[in-house]
Amino acid sequence: MPHLELVDLDLAFGEQQIVRKLSMTLDQGRIGCLLGPSGCGKTTVLRCIAGFEPVKSGQVRLDGELVSSADRHVPPERRRIGMVFQDYALFPHLTIAENIGFGLRKLEPRERGARIDELLDIVGLTGQGVKYPHEMSGGQQQRVALARALAPRPSLLLLDEPFSNLDVELRERLSHEVRDILKATGTTAVLVTHDQNEAFAVADEIGIMHQGRIQQWDSPYNLYHRPGNRFVADFIGQGVLLPAEVLNDHQVRMELGTLNSVIPVECSVGCGACEHHCPVEVLLRPDDIIHDDASTMKAKVAKKAFRGADILYTLELSSGARVLSLVPSHHNHAIGEMIGIRLDVDHVITFHENSDQAAHAQRANQIAQAARA
Ligand code: ATP
Repeated sequence: MPHLELVDLDLAFGEQQIVRKLSMTLDQGRIGCLLGPSGCGKTTVLRCIAGFEPVKSGQVRLDGELVSSADRHVPPERRRIGMVFQDYALFPHLTIAENIGFGLRKLEPRERGARIDELLDIVGLTGQGVKYPHEMSGGQQQRVALARALAPRPSLLLLDEPFSNLDVELRERLSHEVRDILKATGTTAVLVTHDQNEAFAVADEIGIMHQGRIQQWDSPYNLYHRPGNRFVADFIGQGVLLPAEVLNDHQVRMELGTLNSVIPVECSVGCGACEHHCPVEVLLRPDDIIHDDASTMKAKVAKKAFRGADILYTLELSSGARVLSLVPSHHNHAIGEMIGIRLDVDHVITFHENSDQAAHAQRANQIAQAARA
């Protein structure tokens, strides 16, 4: 049985429908994430799981128990859910130890003190319980907030943009630390963020949200390498879509030549095992295009972005189409220079062409002819 289950959830503010038919499940000890652009409804879902927003229709189940539906609402304090917010929300007049122990008032003092010490150890703040929040850095305050949320051993932890107030470097470090802490304590958690690096660093599985719906619920690897639709392909990572034609269920042809796929190519027109040269668009990620001086296939450097270890090149093909290529930064080429490239694509992601199909078919044919020549 899943630990958390959302079934066909509909949430609304008055007439404004915020979340539509949203379903997901999360097993005990797993970390899930709702990732999406601002305003897509992530926080509203989190607040609904916590019991702060009513459900229009659908269900929220915790360990099989129905806690939210149109007819039933278990109050937040009876859900055993911990929360961590963006702004830490620590009590400024209480010490760190008192903050962490806030939800442990029912415990005997000795037991309470031991639990506080245990949590200070877990979050790497051993011996710092006597300090006040204003004496701690932002990262430390967020670790205190995490310790406070974990102290009563919640059945589920909800984290709402927990790293947004921190600078980039600290955000990255803390997100890895938080994952380690959640895993070490076996905590089931749902994180909400608009930052994919954070989502990738923390979560086991991620739901990409757009306009109140989950577009794809999957592992970080699959979201990047096997995006289910254009929105996910666009939102996760970088890449471009180039016109191509389907040759058969393992091959497509495009300007850069024929791509062989180890997984069956789906003809997005719906032919099944297509052999009709249907027009599609192929997703090419920066790591699919390899810079290779020995290659006869050339492209012109149109833009470059230095990133320390790598350079992200925007390369122009002979048709004028552009692709991205991530190249170790000691391969430093000038804008306008022609450089050798080769493809390294082991599974081909195709989408139905957006524009007029006939025009596209013509364009794909031209491209294929050019590729054959
Ligand atoms: P962000 O990343 O910016 O926090 P989000 O994806 O978490 O965005 P929500 O905060 O869930 O999005 O908001 C979704 C929509 O619901 C927004 O259009 C927002 O304006 C609206 N909304 C949120 N809270 C309320 C409220 N209490 N009353 C009315 N509308 C609300």
